[in-house]
Amino acid sequence: MNPNQTSERKLADRDQAVVWHPFTQMLGAEVLPVKRGRGAWLELEDGCELLDGIASWWVCLHGHAHPVLARAVANQAYLLEQVIFAGFTHEPAVALAEKLIALTPEKLQRVFFSDNGSTSVEVALKLALQYFHNRGEKRVRILALDDAYHGDTFGAMSVSGASVFTEAFQDLFFEVEFLPSPALEDVSVVEAALDNALAQGPPAALILEPLVQGVAGMQMYAPEVLEKLIGKVQAAGGLVIADEIMTGFYRTGSRFAFLQQQHTPDLLCLSKALTGGFLPLGTTLCSQEIYDAFLSQDKTKTFFHGHSFTANPLACAVANASLNLLESPEVQQQIAQIAAQHQAACKRFERLPQVHAVRTKGIILAVELSAGESGYLSQISPQLYPFFLQQGVLLRPLGNVVYILPPLCITPTELEMLYSALEKGVEWLGEQG
Ligand code: PMP
Repeated sequence: MNPNQTSERKLADRDQAVVWHPFTQMLGAEVLPVKRGRGAWLELEDGCELLDGIASWWVCLHGHAHPVLARAVANQAYLLEQVIFAGFTHEPAVALAEKLIALTPEKLQRVFFSDNGSTSVEVALKLALQYFHNRGEKRVRILALDDAYHGDTFGAMSVSGASVFTEAFQDLFFEVEFLPSPALEDVSVVEAALDNALAQGPPAALILEPLVQGVAGMQMYAPEVLEKLIGKVQAAGGLVIADEIMTGFYRTGSRFAFLQQQHTPDLLCLSKALTGGFLPLGTTLCSQEIYDAFLSQDKTKTFFHGHSFTANPLACAVANASLNLLESPEVQQQIAQIAAQHQAACKRFERLPQVHAVRTKGIILAVELSAGESGYLSQISPQLYPFFLQQGVLLRPLGNVVYILPPLCITPTELEMLYSALEKGVEWLGEQG
């Protein structure tokens, strides 16, 4: 192809010829070319605007192209864009690690950097397993929750609930003991399953998404249940990995979801909103005790793990800027406002006949529809998603669950536009029969 011809061809056509999109059946796939983003809005190539009700896969914490964050990236780019992180360090990485440690309970003392949510989970699992290995203990049992989602790499898939996402690979997963989901089962059933698992000896670790299982359809459970799960595993001598890749940074109302109960996990995975959605970055925080098990004259006890872009300076710089913004009184006020508006909006969805359940926690609002089959491949999502686009809003249902997880810059009027589109969508779906 003559490269000069490319500008004359539509972006969507060029895309269709060469690109493979994530979580997308490419047969008949349509993609929308985005020209720019501003606040809660995306502007498409044809000039149409879309209100981003899901913070673009839960990452754009403050909205799109925030000038403070854009400046942080630009300033850092002129100074130091990237440097090998083995044997070297830099101000943005150290400042970010200091900040994350200051923002979390005292137990979490060290920060390991990676590139995204899945890799931060891989790091947590490997740290937990090697922690016991380095101490000369053979401990390889891992516990996880049904319906969990922890990412798409093999370790992360192994600890995720069996689903259409993982079916083709499941013969190759390592062994994991799954407990019933506390969001879907009675607490006593989950507790009994955990007691049973712990009776067979202490596991290496339990991994969970605190309070909200996001990909499962924003399924929620109470802090008291989380407290029991973490407390029991830690009392038995196992480690707890909190995957706050979606729930972190006030999505559930508190800075981190686990802060709504008294126990601190031993490992904490963060990503997505960490950089305000500007650049990919993952972090795994751990306790001093875990870190100490890797300190040795014996080189084989080293944590031999690292990604080329570990602690990329641009990503760390924008994460620092994003966290400063997040902790400001104005943004804290925004979080409270969105949570209150969600609370008030629940009633109007509950009255709709097609609605099975309405859930809200912090800035997350989820409406579960009863029509048709449930689960990720439910027909509701492919019907409603284009309907919402026509209404000028980006809402991407998880199967039969429509949810709103907006960027924090969203105004009350814009949020009302999302509710209204959601309401119309549910009513329209009802009319389709
Ligand atoms: N854990 C959770 C709870 C997630 O929601 C996700 C992404 N949806 C991941 C892990 C994986 O993150 P990433 O897509 O950045 O690899």
